[in-house]
Amino acid sequence: MKTAQITLYNTLTRRLEAFVPLVDGEVRIYCCGPTVYNYPHIGNMRTYVFEDLLVRTLRYAGYKVTHVMNITDVGHLVSDADEGEDKMLVAARREGKNSYEIADFYTKVFFDHATKLNIRRPDIVCKATEHVAQMIALVQRLEERGYAYASGGNIYFDVSKLPDYGKLARLDLDQLRAGARIEVDEHKRNPLDFALWFTKSKFEAQEMKWHSPWGEGYPGWHLECSAMAQTYLGDTLDIHCGGIDHVAVHHTNEIAQSERATGRPFVRYWLHAGFLVLGKDKMAKSSGEFLTLDRVTERGIDPLSFRLFCMTGSYRNELSWSWEALEGAANTLRRLKSQVAQWRLDATNTNHPCTPLSLRAGELKSAFEDEIYNDLNFANALAVLHQTAQDTALSPAEKLNLFSLYDEVFGLGVESWQAVQEDIPETI
Ligand code: AMP
Ligand code: ZN
Repeated sequence: MKTAQITLYNTLTRRLEAFVPLVDGEVRIYCCGPTVYNYPHIGNMRTYVFEDLLVRTLRYAGYKVTHVMNITDVGHLVSDADEGEDKMLVAARREGKNSYEIADFYTKVFFDHATKLNIRRPDIVCKATEHVAQMIALVQRLEERGYAYASGGNIYFDVSKLPDYGKLARLDLDQLRAGARIEVDEHKRNPLDFALWFTKSKFEAQEMKWHSPWGEGYPGWHLECSAMAQTYLGDTLDIHCGGIDHVAVHHTNEIAQSERATGRPFVRYWLHAGFLVLGKDKMAKSSGEFLTLDRVTERGIDPLSFRLFCMTGSYRNELSWSWEALEGAANTLRRLKSQVAQWRLDATNTNHPCTPLSLRAGELKSAFEDEIYNDLNFANALAVLHQTAQDTALSPAEKLNLFSLYDEVFGLGVESWQAVQEDIPETI
């Protein structure tokens, strides 16, 4: 099948680039999954909506996509820079459960929220705790190649051996070496070095432990994504995604480990979602109060309104959260649903056949595709959807056809929008 040309913004080059996968017609994509120690907030879900829109766009464009996502169920410490306790352990103490029970519960919650947002399950979902052998093998390769050292009972990655460390985030290494970015762990030779494996660590209470050549312990957080991406997708990935907060530490360290272990480029296109923000602050799980999808549904708002809301701005920009903005998206969704319902009635009444696309419908389809292929410009693609709804030259059947087509990517559930409207109170 012929694939369409897509332009994507690559964080590595800071440029819009024509997307060319390593193997013609195929895309191998890895997305950092949730750390399952708490409810996902709607900021997290914004990133997963973006990734779902990306994968749907690639498939719509004719690519065979293999989408891998990890579940972080061990090793992510309270600070991204190897400080504090394992987040799983903190949650286990908070809730009086063990770390595995915590992981199990919040993994289910995550997929429940994802399903409510019509986010398709990745082809491969892999848990960190089930890939510790691959992580140990990766550390051994780094040791053999001289990029890892033991200190204070832990194994660290030696950043000083990498002239291009920090290329993704364009880090100013001199400034960071002075300790500006992170608190200094006394065992590190260099403040930018990061833990690959903890053994006799400062967190004696760690529950999840494995045997390793360096003693009983557990992996550093960054290691899991390098190991699992390599296991399922090979040495070089076409696309790697995550939220913008991962650029400076997590993805920077993934690149360092993967490229030094394999000697090959790790990722061809890095894509990052901007933050969902509340006023000036990013929404964060660690900051106490945060909004989850449950708060949205409790107010009687269709969760797909949040999906629609995410499409109203560029995925790369910050998106400002407000209940008013969400209500606006909910109203739009209601209006679209009732229009579609009416077209279904009209198309049935006039017994309109599903004919091939007319010239006008073809123009709208092309306009829609141009927008989604242009670095996922969903705000403009939605404008094409609204134009379609208002176009007086199109028959109801044609509008339905176009809406179904767009919805392969929008994922708003158009097929389920029927003539009977549940939202209308009986009294009306
Ligand atoms: P975590 O579960 O904390 O590992 O985060 C899961 C995903 O959500 C990662 O890709 C993060 O980069 C992303 N993320 C975290 N906070 C936000 C936010 N406020 N807005 C958008 N994405 C976020
Ligand atoms: Zn990751």
